[in-house]
Amino acid sequence: MENFLDKLTPSYTFEIFPPKGNKSTEGTYAVIDSLVSFNPDLISVTYGAGGSSRDNTVEIASGIQNKYKVCGVAHLTCVGTTKADIKNILERLKGNNVKNILALRGDLKDESDLGEFHHASELIKFIKDEYGDYFDVFAACYPEKHPEAKSMEDDLFHLKEKCDLGVKALISQLFFDNDIFCQWREKVRALGIKQPIIAGIMPITAAAQISKVVEMCGASVPERVRRFVNEYGHHQGAVKEAGIAYATEQIIDLLARNVEGIHLYTMNQADTVRRIDAGIRSVLYTKRYAVYNDR
Ligand SMILES: Cc1cc2nc3c(=O)[nH]c(=O)nc-3n(C[C@H](O)[C@H](O)[C@H](O)COP(=O)(O)OP(=O)(O)OC[C@H]3O[C@@H](n4cnc5c(N)ncnc54)[C@H](O)[C@@H]3O)c2cc1C
Repeated sequence: MENFLDKLTPSYTFEIFPPKGNKSTEGTYAVIDSLVSFNPDLISVTYGAGGSSRDNTVEIASGIQNKYKVCGVAHLTCVGTTKADIKNILERLKGNNVKNILALRGDLKDESDLGEFHHASELIKFIKDEYGDYFDVFAACYPEKHPEAKSMEDDLFHLKEKCDLGVKALISQLFFDNDIFCQWREKVRALGIKQPIIAGIMPITAAAQISKVVEMCGASVPERVRRFVNEYGHHQGAVKEAGIAYATEQIIDLLARNVEGIHLYTMNQADTVRRIDAGIRSVLYTKRYAVYNDR
C-alpha cells in the first residue's frame, strides 16, 4: 500500500476529535471541510479521548478516507477491552477501507481497568497477528517520557518494543520545548529506532489550557510561554494570538532541525490551523523540495 510517508518529507498531519456522546457529526465535517484545504498528508481521529464517541471515530475516519480522499487514521485504545471488542472494531475499519491506525493503550483510571491488553505493544501485536500488513500501524511516543514510566530509559525500552513490531511511524506527545524534543530524538536514534518521528504540536489558545496540559502529560512549559500566558491571560484573544505565533515559530524551528513530520493537535479549531498554516507553508514546502532533491 502506498503511504504518505513514502512520498513527502517532512509530513504534515492533523488530529481532530469526534463529537461527544450522540451529538451530530455535522460540525466535525465542517471542520474537516476547512482542514482538507490545507492539504494535510493525513487526518487522525481520536478515540474516546475526553469522552468523545468511539463509534464516531470509525465513521469520521472513514469519511476522511472515502469522501475527502485524504488518508484517515483511526486512533484505537485497548484499555478495558477484550480481543473480541478490538476485532470487532478492526473489522469495521477494514469494512470502511480505513487502513491506518494509531494503536494506543489509553489512559488508565486504575489497574483493574486493564482488560485483555496491558500495553499498546500487545494491541500492535494483535493487529499484526490478525491482519498481517493490511493496516499501517502508528504508535505514540513521549519526548518527556510517559508520566507512568519509571525512567526515560524504561520508556524508551518499551518504545523500542513497539517499533520492533513494525510500526509505520511514531507520533509524539505535545511539547513546547524543541531542545527537549531534539535531545530525546537523539536517544531514540541511538537505540536503533528508525521509524519517522512526527512531532506533536498543540497551539495554546487559552490560558486555562496550560495547566490542563501540564497536568495531563507533564510537558515542560518554557519561561517565554509562561510569560505570555501570565501577561495576557485575562484576555483570551491575546493569549490566542501569542499561542499561534509561538506554535508557528516552534514548527519553523523544528523544520530547520530536520524533523520528519509535524502533527498539529487542531482541537477542531480550523481558524487556528489556517493561521499557523499561512505562517509555515513556504518553509514547509521549501524543506520538502530540498529533501526531495537530496534523494
Ligand atoms: C499522539 C497521541 C494520540 C493519543 N490519542 C489518544 C486517543 O485518541 N484516545 C485516548 O484515550 N488516548 C490517547 N492518547 C493518550 C494515550 O492513550 C496515553 O498516553 C496512554 O496513557 C498511553 O498510551 P500508549 O499507547 O503510549 O501506551 P504504552 O505504549 O502501553 O505505554 C504506557 C506506559 O506503559 C509503559 N510500558 C509499555 N510497555 C510496557 C511493558 N511491556 N511493561 C511495562 N511497562 C510498559 C510505557 O513505558 C508507558 O509508561 C494519545 C497519546 C498520544 C501521544
